Amino acid sequence: MPENTIPDTCRCPRTIVIKVGSNTLTDERGALNRRYIASLADQISDLMSEGVRVVLVTSAAIAAGLEVLGWRERPTDIDSLQAAASIGQAALLDVYAAEFGRRDIPVGQILLTRYDLEHEKSYANARNAFERLMALGALPLVNENDATAVDEIRYGDNDALAALVAKMVSAERMIFLTDVDGLYDANPAVCAEAHRFDRLDHVDAELLEVAPEGSTGSAIGSGGMRTKVQAAALLLDCGVETVICDGRRGNVVRDCLDGSVSGTVFCPVKEGE
Ligand code: GLU
Repeated sequence: MPENTIPDTCRCPRTIVIKVGSNTLTDERGALNRRYIASLADQISDLMSEGVRVVLVTSAAIAAGLEVLGWRERPTDIDSLQAAASIGQAALLDVYAAEFGRRDIPVGQILLTRYDLEHEKSYANARNAFERLMALGALPLVNENDATAVDEIRYGDNDALAALVAKMVSAERMIFLTDVDGLYDANPAVCAEAHRFDRLDHVDAELLEVAPEGSTGSAIGSGGMRTKVQAAALLLDCGVETVICDGRRGNVVRDCLDGSVSGTVFCPVKEGE
């Protein structure tokens, strides 16, 4: 079987979580890439029309806030980051609501913090809200609540948050749309011999070591490859498949579902395999 082919046992997910990072959602000037968001809306609405339940975890609130405020540099003080995230979240939601509204899909915003996910009552409340939104045919749109999640209670990126949401909604598959087409054993930008891991069924310390910390591309977001691999490790333990791929490639979401994606797939070993 070709390395990139997803086995039948992993096919036909009914619930998927897609996480898209700030770098992927913005252009070279750091502004929201509305054309890209429109293409994402096309891909997601196509799947939803076939009955697939989708949750979209989206970053870029801070990036959108910087754009609205006309700030060229990302501030370093937490109050300004909170303000940028707060203003930007409204702008981001507007863009998604308009794009999905055009396709007759309502979006429901859910802003979460570590606190919400670690406390039974708020966890159950959030899960009920996700279930009801999806039952209504709406798209839950998730981000960390950067206005209240600061310092030690902040996840710092949405990768871990996305994995916990995937677990919460019992997703079959988690898709990370990022600016690199998977996990490599060296930096492909500087090393011609860099090899991409196409398919993995476990994560060990050695693998985590090759996954670079920090932002994968430009200086817009705060995620990195390591947090995605850590998220994949958590999800492998729960039997959830994870894909890390280049979010800008054509019909990438569909490719993730039909097994033709060019990227790294973390596929849990099924009993008896
Ligand atoms: N929740 C943040 C956002 O949406 C994460 C990205 C960041 O820290 O820049 O902007």
